[in-house]
Amino acid sequence: MIAPGATIGILGGGQLGRMTALAAARLGYACHVFAPEADSPAFAVARHTCASWADRAALADFAAAVAVVTLEFENVPVDVLDFLAGRVQVRPNAAVLAVTQDRLAEKRFLESRGFPVAPFREVRSPEEAASALVELGGRGVLKTTRFGYDGRGQRIVASPEEAVAAFAALGPGTKVLEVFVTFEREISVVTARRADGTRASFPAVENRHEHHILRTTIAPAPIPPALAQEAVALAEGVAEALGVVGLLAAEMFVTGEGRLLVNELAPRPHNSGHWTIDACPVSQFEQLVRAVCDLPLGDPTPFAAAVMENLLGDEVAAWPRLLAEPGARLHLYGKREVRPGRKMGHVTRLFPTLDGIKR
Ligand code: AMP
Repeated sequence: MIAPGATIGILGGGQLGRMTALAAARLGYACHVFAPEADSPAFAVARHTCASWADRAALADFAAAVAVVTLEFENVPVDVLDFLAGRVQVRPNAAVLAVTQDRLAEKRFLESRGFPVAPFREVRSPEEAASALVELGGRGVLKTTRFGYDGRGQRIVASPEEAVAAFAALGPGTKVLEVFVTFEREISVVTARRADGTRASFPAVENRHEHHILRTTIAPAPIPPALAQEAVALAEGVAEALGVVGLLAAEMFVTGEGRLLVNELAPRPHNSGHWTIDACPVSQFEQLVRAVCDLPLGDPTPFAAAVMENLLGDEVAAWPRLLAEPGARLHLYGKREVRPGRKMGHVTRLFPTLDGIKR
């Protein structure tokens, strides 16, 4: 067990790292953040190293300063995790990252272990994209295999010509073409897992996106209890199969027929888990700290229903009104530069139940 008082290393310096460091501080831990960007939001609340992922000397110093390393960003180069793993415990490990930072590897992993995913094809050329689209039924989503998030690196395609054009527009390299899923809603589950396999999951939540960016999370998801349980079992099964130590967020589609398809995995805190800070006895961030330090996991059962809204770009200017709103719980990430669509903060509102909430 890594007892309070120790220092936790965090790879990545965004708001997820910032909120992890705040949760760690509450339990008496210090955090040391490693990130390449000088204006990282997490730097304001933790010790930090600002250096490139290629800076081995800086990574070695970082490893020497911490008791365990976790991450808040899954695109950390895998060789960085391998390098650190020779010096300090890294949770989750490089093998988990290798799968989850590559859409093709992730989908193949899920499919090979029998987890439900939308039908997909690997496509290596515009011609392959066009023929795969026909095979998959004529409507699909073409995605880059790496560095896709918040809708970056993907295009909806509805004809072979569009598939050819989208392949070129997405830049060089292999891509994944997936069937376009006409989903009823999108949900996600954040699950925590310790090295001994102990786990605890927050309930399934519904996520509404706008322009592919998360806008609203509704917790719990307004779905039948059996489906909510199935979603939790699916996320826990995937976390077990991957051997995640820490957190796993599993995003899923609920199809028109009420089936679940896993869309995407993230082995870290997730935007759809921010509501847990205000509505659960333990937040996703504290749960991450507990999981990577081998502490007992906390109780993830919510004591209230919640609706979380992201504050994107200049919506953050509403902070005086939100501060004045009774019951609104405002979280700001301290980002100085406002850019359209940038996640600047979020606000969570609690309700005794979700009855009567517009959804
Ligand atoms: P992703 O980056 O894969 O999480 O995709 C971002 C968003 O695009 C998802 O949350 C969906 O709203 C939408 N999307 C992604 N893949 C598909 C698909 N195969 N069918 C329909 N919508 C999709």
